[in-house]
Amino acid sequence: MVLYSPGRTSSYPEEAVKEGIRFHFLGGGNEVGNVGCILEDVAGTRLLLDYGLAPTKPPRYPNEAPKVTDCIITHSHIDHLGMAPWLASHHSTRLHGTALTGEIAMPMWNDCYKVSRIEGYPLSWDKRDIDEAVDLWQSHGFNEKITFHNWKWQLLPAGHIPGAAMVNIDTPTHRILFTGDFDTRDSKLVNGAEPIECDILFVEGTYGGRSHPPKKPEQERFLNRVTEVVSRGGTCLVPAFANGRTQDVLMLLHQNKPNLNIHIDGMGKFLAKLYLEHPEYLRSSEELEAAMIWAKKVSSKSDRKKALDADVIITTSGMLDGGPSIWYMNRLRDNPNNAILLTGYQARGSGGRKLLDEGKLPIFGTDIPIELEVDQFTFSTHCGHDEIISFTKQCKAKHVVVYHTDPHQARPPLVAALESQGHTVHCPVNGESYTIID
Ligand SMILES: [Zn+2]
Ligand SMILES: [Zn+2]
Repeated sequence: MVLYSPGRTSSYPEEAVKEGIRFHFLGGGNEVGNVGCILEDVAGTRLLLDYGLAPTKPPRYPNEAPKVTDCIITHSHIDHLGMAPWLASHHSTRLHGTALTGEIAMPMWNDCYKVSRIEGYPLSWDKRDIDEAVDLWQSHGFNEKITFHNWKWQLLPAGHIPGAAMVNIDTPTHRILFTGDFDTRDSKLVNGAEPIECDILFVEGTYGGRSHPPKKPEQERFLNRVTEVVSRGGTCLVPAFANGRTQDVLMLLHQNKPNLNIHIDGMGKFLAKLYLEHPEYLRSSEELEAAMIWAKKVSSKSDRKKALDADVIITTSGMLDGGPSIWYMNRLRDNPNNAILLTGYQARGSGGRKLLDEGKLPIFGTDIPIELEVDQFTFSTHCGHDEIISFTKQCKAKHVVVYHTDPHQARPPLVAALESQGHTVHCPVNGESYTIID
């Protein structure tokens, strides 16, 4: 299926910018994920920040990007880089990001391609385009100053996942900070993001209006639950996203429950290896390495059968949409001593959401009632409401653009809090252009 008619389906205007800075969200303005944001000034200097797709069912794609010579990718989640192969093959766009993001990009694109084939969803790029994207990748370290026409930009640590960056751009008229997905709190894997002063802050508002529970008690609740299940002879199935969550949960267990028998399965094993090849992006590569040596890595069918006797199995998919987690689920579901410990957000339409709402899970095509106990834990590595407000205050931003957010639930309380802090707040809609002059 053709999603774009190149050059004809872009929402981006052809007129030059007359004053100030123009921003235009191709996607991710008034929704979570699916991010693509164009910035342009009066000199015609133009950058695209992120170009992802939202892996919902069916996926959501951003509007077609206009011709851009350069795109900065904040991090390696598919909702921020999933469409980059299209850019590479249609516009030969140079892709910029940290070395680790570049390294993880290829397995993420390969996985996205594979899932689109299995699920029968259209993708506007194919496998060969991945090679072009890899060839066009340019890696940059944090704080490295890059000159781009009349702009200077640099990547700054964003917390969130290893390699994730915020983008700081100095134009002749404005200092801009684009957070990507970010967290100011430290996680097991990475240190939190630090604010810097800017004139225009683009802030992700995923958790607007919602505060995270304090980290320590939430971790203890999880660890206590594991102890409870294991002591009655059960196995905990911990569905976790491959890129960040798997390793975070593994390190938490390693540091607190070293006597347990833990197995990890899915792409998270491979990504942990890539993280360890770039220790400069980790809070402690020693601790991740120790946790990885400690855990039993599942890499064959017979390993998978052995894992059924484990205390804890950490595996993809994090939302119980296919992957090894469904294979385990199917075998663990008959023993009521076992339990499911969800570690992340369960999107509408996902297996995990169905399990929470209806107590059923689609297993190999059939909805099966699941009698096991299900718990959900908040291990988010996005800023919560309070962290967003305090970060924004410390950035002293005159203008704040709230994006990557649900426009009905999350954004209104965030906008109210930001306005009462004195910022001029902008609420972008996908496909619309906005100009900031002062
Ligand atoms: Zn995101
Ligand atoms: Zn992310």
